[in-house]
Amino acid sequence: MSFHPKKGFKLVTIVSFIIIVSIVLTMLISIHSSYSVSRQSLVNNYLSGNYDRAMDLSAATGNLLVRIQKSVDSMATIWQRNESIDPMLLNDLYATHSEYFESLSIVRKDTILMEIAPSNKKELQVGKSIDSPISRSLIKLKESKMTDPFVGKTGNLLILVSSPLYDKNNNYYGYIAGTIYLHNSNILQLILEKNVESDGSYVFAVDSKGNVIFHPDPTMIGKNIASNEAVWKVIAGLNGSIEYEDNSGKQFYAGYAYNMGSGWGIVSQTPAEIVNGPLNNLLQSSALQSLPLLFITLAAGWLLTYLVVRPLHMLAEYSNRMLKEWSIDDLPPVRSATYEIKLLYSSLRTTARQMQKYIRKLRTETALDGLTGLANRRNFDATLEAWCLAKEPFSMIMLDIDHFKLVNDTYGHPVGDQVIQFLAATMRNVSREGDLCFRYGGEELGILLRGANKERAYFVAERLRHMVSNTPSPSGECITISLGIVDFPEQGRFPEELITRADEALYMSKREGRNRTTVYREPVAAIELPEQQ
Ligand code: GH3
Ligand code: MG
Ligand code: MG
Repeated sequence: MSFHPKKGFKLVTIVSFIIIVSIVLTMLISIHSSYSVSRQSLVNNYLSGNYDRAMDLSAATGNLLVRIQKSVDSMATIWQRNESIDPMLLNDLYATHSEYFESLSIVRKDTILMEIAPSNKKELQVGKSIDSPISRSLIKLKESKMTDPFVGKTGNLLILVSSPLYDKNNNYYGYIAGTIYLHNSNILQLILEKNVESDGSYVFAVDSKGNVIFHPDPTMIGKNIASNEAVWKVIAGLNGSIEYEDNSGKQFYAGYAYNMGSGWGIVSQTPAEIVNGPLNNLLQSSALQSLPLLFITLAAGWLLTYLVVRPLHMLAEYSNRMLKEWSIDDLPPVRSATYEIKLLYSSLRTTARQMQKYIRKLRTETALDGLTGLANRRNFDATLEAWCLAKEPFSMIMLDIDHFKLVNDTYGHPVGDQVIQFLAATMRNVSREGDLCFRYGGEELGILLRGANKERAYFVAERLRHMVSNTPSPSGECITISLGIVDFPEQGRFPEELITRADEALYMSKREGRNRTTVYREPVAAIELPEQQ
């Protein structure tokens, strides 16, 4: 009848679980979203900062390159005016432009180096040919030109800023060129180098083909990094900012700016790890800060669950116990402010009380004889067995109405019934609390006398016999009864044995003439006792 779910979680577990999960999830989501917002704003800061810097430096570098080119062009104008520049003048020009150039040289259209400043540059000899592809291409081009980086005769990585030389009649003579050594300190470094920041941000410059012109790491200078995402975008002529990974897998927030005049690109970038460090600290500190709040919320959640679910748990346990044990004790007080729980409580209490009444009635009905209200046969059997097992002394009286058929025949069955009821009432009178009066069947009844020996039982039996025989029964006449007595444990130890022996004693009384009491004796011999008054 009782329902015992083997599987299944308690409501308190489920609700607590839901509360805990939702609180923890909410916290995680809020921490994560604040992390994302902070990260995004930080990243945006770096992207726009780098973009601004790249744009500024691109403009500054562009202006500088224009000035450098103009300075070489103005030297070509001087040459045209004089149709020569003597070594002294070239040295002077070099001295005034030494912040731009490593050296100045004049090359004739047949590739012969005509002059060089400073004059202490011994690697290149005046009068010798500079027959490099770059030199020949400049002679062929006959225009102002800033070259891509190349390795010169001296083994240095350099760029040339050149201007064609024409005589007064506009005949092409050759070119004048200033050199910028990319690995030596140069004017570009002065502008770009100071942009290395303490947070790890730095700037580099590439030419139109993606060759590094300037980089704070000197080993990078001259390398082609056109496959770098920021670089290929900038040399495609774009300006912008980007979050990207370089070829080595390192992540950057970069701004890039294209310089139209030179075709160069400037990239300003910040390693992502610079941003991630503070962000992780922020994440950690905000997680730590929210810990106390998390615990308080969890405790409050648990308390709330306990308050709501605990009464429900108690009611469920109670109703299960009620079904399982069939013992309906009073419902324990359940305090709850929840409407449904209050309703459940009151209906369960009403049900329990009704069931209590019903069970009591049912028990009485199944244990008692319908006509006399004495214990019925089943009840008697059970009691006798229990008393035998308990091994406490007791005695049993069995009795039968004498010539009862005659009563029935004379007065009818209903009166016969009333006579049986009258006898039962008289038996109740003579018995004590703790004794059991029973109807064995028909008009055969009996008493189990707790703690009584056969002498005491005999006394009670005789008292009963006298009362019955001296009190008019419902038929108007007095009836008589015959009785038999047996004693436990002296005269029998088992229920059937006791019943048989009591019956034997009873029939001994019948045989001896009725209206008498016989105590069982072995060998069976009825003792006739004088009638008591
Ligand atoms: P004896 O002295 O030998 O006992 O004679 P008796 O007539 O009483 O014989 P017995 O005990 O054998 O008869 C029992 C009778 O009791 C038979 C039956 O009709 C009657 N009887 C049994 N149960 C009831 C009952 O519940 N109500 C009524 N009215 N009569 C009953
Ligand atoms: Mg009889
Ligand atoms: Mg009988």
